Amino acid sequence: NTSQPRLPAFLKTAIPSGNSFKKIRKDLRGLGLHTVCEEARCPNMGDCWGGKKGATEEESRRAATATIMLMGDTCTRGCRFCSVKTSRAPPPLDPHEPEHTAEAISRWGLGYVVLTSVDRDDLADGGAHHFAETIMKIKQKAPQILVEALTGDFAGNMDLVALVAKSGLDVYAHNIETVEELTPYVRDRRAKFRQSLAVLEHAKKQGVQVTKTSMMLGIGETEDQVMDALRELRKVNVDVVTFGQYMRPTKRHMKVDRYVEPVEFDHWRQVAEDMGFLYVASGPLVRSSYKAGEYFIENVLK
Ligand code: SF4
Ligand code: SF4
Repeated sequence: NTSQPRLPAFLKTAIPSGNSFKKIRKDLRGLGLHTVCEEARCPNMGDCWGGKKGATEEESRRAATATIMLMGDTCTRGCRFCSVKTSRAPPPLDPHEPEHTAEAISRWGLGYVVLTSVDRDDLADGGAHHFAETIMKIKQKAPQILVEALTGDFAGNMDLVALVAKSGLDVYAHNIETVEELTPYVRDRRAKFRQSLAVLEHAKKQGVQVTKTSMMLGIGETEDQVMDALRELRKVNVDVVTFGQYMRPTKRHMKVDRYVEPVEFDHWRQVAEDMGFLYVASGPLVRSSYKAGEYFIENVLK
């Protein structure tokens, strides 16, 4: 497609390597866990899984972050930026998944895990009980592991948001993905910018220590629209925001409007920090969970 801008050099990354990376990959496969990191071929695996430079294996693992996908690989929604499969009736949940996931994660010994899932509008509770049970089981087996839940909007059902928020997690994340004006074009029609703000607000009111959201840039948003979004997020006490470049997964997905320069990402980091966000990650390759463990363990959740 000729109207698609060319990929700039700063978005090309090396294939991850290193001993810690290989070991984590082997362990994960052995445990039968599905990571978004591998399935989405995330360019940050070397950084997230590699842990700290010059550290022992145990230290590296404790600094490592991985994102685990719950509730299957098929979503009831279809966002225009997302490559996950869509169906109105995905297969039923695996009732053993919470136990198995907790067992695998606790044996593995990493420091920070992000649990995420497809949206399950087909289930009466959107999968909230399943999500909460997984978190509770991880905390029972390995209370030292920090858990971030990156959830959907539970169709705006605040009781379900509260259920997950009170399950013992450390970070409640829900992504607004883009500015308010572009939301109807970017996200599934059931997702609403205001509804997502309400989810984040309600989670914070349950006493969650850290709430977090992510935005993709390069979709066609204006500077003013990004500023408005940040102000709205601060109003509902969101603590952490991340910015990354939108990358088109296939030609069937919406186009990239432009590749945002690294200096612009630096600018947004500065702006958001000045507005009072506790922590901001911003860069072309930043994904919502980018090196979350390393930052959170050292800076936020001491
Ligand atoms: Fe992808 Fe999430 Fe949208 Fe489902 S709800 S299509 S998993 S971004
Ligand atoms: Fe995995 Fe997220 Fe890190 Fe990518 S950014 S490697 S998906 S934890």
